[in-house]
Amino acid sequence: MAYYIFVTGGVLSSLGKGVASASIASLLEEQGLKVNIQKLDPYLNVDPGTMSPYQHGEVYVTEDGAETDLDLGYYERFTSRNMSRKNNVTAGRVYYNVIKREREGGYLGATVQVIPHITDEIKRLIREAEEDCDVLIVEIGGTVGDIEGLPFLEAVRQLSMELGREKTLFVHITYVPYIKGAGELKTKPTQHSVKELRAIGIQPNVILCRSDVEIPESIKEKIALFTNVDKSAVISAPDVEFIYEVALHLKKQGMDRLIAKHFNLEYKETKSKWEGIVHILRNTQREVKVALVGKYVSLKDSYKSVAEALLHGGIANRTRVHVEWVNSEDYSQELLERLDGIIVPGGFGGRGIEGKLKALTFGRERKKPTFGICLGMQLMCVEFAREVLGLKDANSTEFDPFTPNPVIDIMEEQKSIKELGGTMRLGSYPCKLVEGSMVRKIYGAELIHERHRHRYEFNNKYREDFQKAGMVFSGLSPDDRLVEIIELSGHPWYIGCQFHPEFKSKPFKPHPLFVSFISACLEGQ
Ligand code: GLN
Repeated sequence: MAYYIFVTGGVLSSLGKGVASASIASLLEEQGLKVNIQKLDPYLNVDPGTMSPYQHGEVYVTEDGAETDLDLGYYERFTSRNMSRKNNVTAGRVYYNVIKREREGGYLGATVQVIPHITDEIKRLIREAEEDCDVLIVEIGGTVGDIEGLPFLEAVRQLSMELGREKTLFVHITYVPYIKGAGELKTKPTQHSVKELRAIGIQPNVILCRSDVEIPESIKEKIALFTNVDKSAVISAPDVEFIYEVALHLKKQGMDRLIAKHFNLEYKETKSKWEGIVHILRNTQREVKVALVGKYVSLKDSYKSVAEALLHGGIANRTRVHVEWVNSEDYSQELLERLDGIIVPGGFGGRGIEGKLKALTFGRERKKPTFGICLGMQLMCVEFAREVLGLKDANSTEFDPFTPNPVIDIMEEQKSIKELGGTMRLGSYPCKLVEGSMVRKIYGAELIHERHRHRYEFNNKYREDFQKAGMVFSGLSPDDRLVEIIELSGHPWYIGCQFHPEFKSKPFKPHPLFVSFISACLEGQ
């Protein structure tokens, strides 16, 4: 049976619970433990797949094709673990299961209620994620005090009673604001939020204090006193330049030692792998500037994994990557002139398409390294058809269902689909790389597996015309039916992929396409 760490949040949202949970997981992995992490989300969507990125940030896709919370991206990037659909549970999923069971007659005779039926289902879904790990970290989304989060907190409270206190640990993340006028850090919000937690029967073991600055000992003492937590378990988590520093801050204050002690596990003195990464990030002299041309750029979380993967590509090249967020609706060529590369990420819907096409024309003609991902790759095809083949009305049927030249069209198996939730082409698929192509060299492999999330694809009717004009279809599904990667011959770096390579990039295992893209940006300087 695994040990459990429950992570709750107080005071306000956006404190970086995901990064904190993932950092704790990475420290425990360094202790030689097998760790899994699960996110519980209190909203009623069955998964975030149908939510706008403005609502929820990026939708992260797992190997098994689950559309999940972006925190799962941190969990994968910070640890060696692959996430699956079991790692993200929403209130919508919980209620869906319970109501379905009720209709099937699974509760005959009973009045179905939040306690015990909803809480039992939450506990069952948590226990499902426990397999094959020594420690399961369960991050509870939202903020303590939210109505929606109550069943989750009640379920983990019950679980800690059932498993035993020595097998479970509660980490509460709070905010300690610095009030300029008073020149003081204030502990009152933390006191209140812990009080709220204790009112529902949960006494935290560790208080993780987010703040602008390091929390001094005197404030830690005060928090310890008011929250009934040992002073050594009040941990400071100040703002950092790079999120990879968080684990180092926690380790410095003995977070990993404290957890080992609580669970009665042997503690090993280790040097954290994050030190090397942070050292590289702090000491790089070189810098490349990349334009990320998208329509959701006002919320940077919408492209979290792409931004992270660019950073990883930078780490591999000992280069800082500055991302210039370009709103595709107000495209300007002057800006692109000054930058070293262009990336057009995934997206849905027609808004901002024309700006992206212009950026792609610029990248193609001016021979700037250009990287198209999913929608970005599809638009590379539209742009090529319009500007090189002269098919001025070429389009994707996503944006113009009646275009005479549908170079991107809905996939055959998608045509009959009526329900929009969870029905795209999702998850990991194999792709073979064509001999002699750039991507074959970049990956150094014949067969790769990458994650997908789309309904549209390249229309094979146009393959020959494209090839004759210099487009190389360098990645194909094993049966040759689906175009997965395109590249342009005669261009230093113009590559588009139908999949999302960003989901598989980690700081310690940067994705080859991002490494190569950043290196091309450097070469073009
Ligand atoms: N909207 C496009 C499709 O559904 C691209 C999706 C994406 O970029 N993830 O095929």
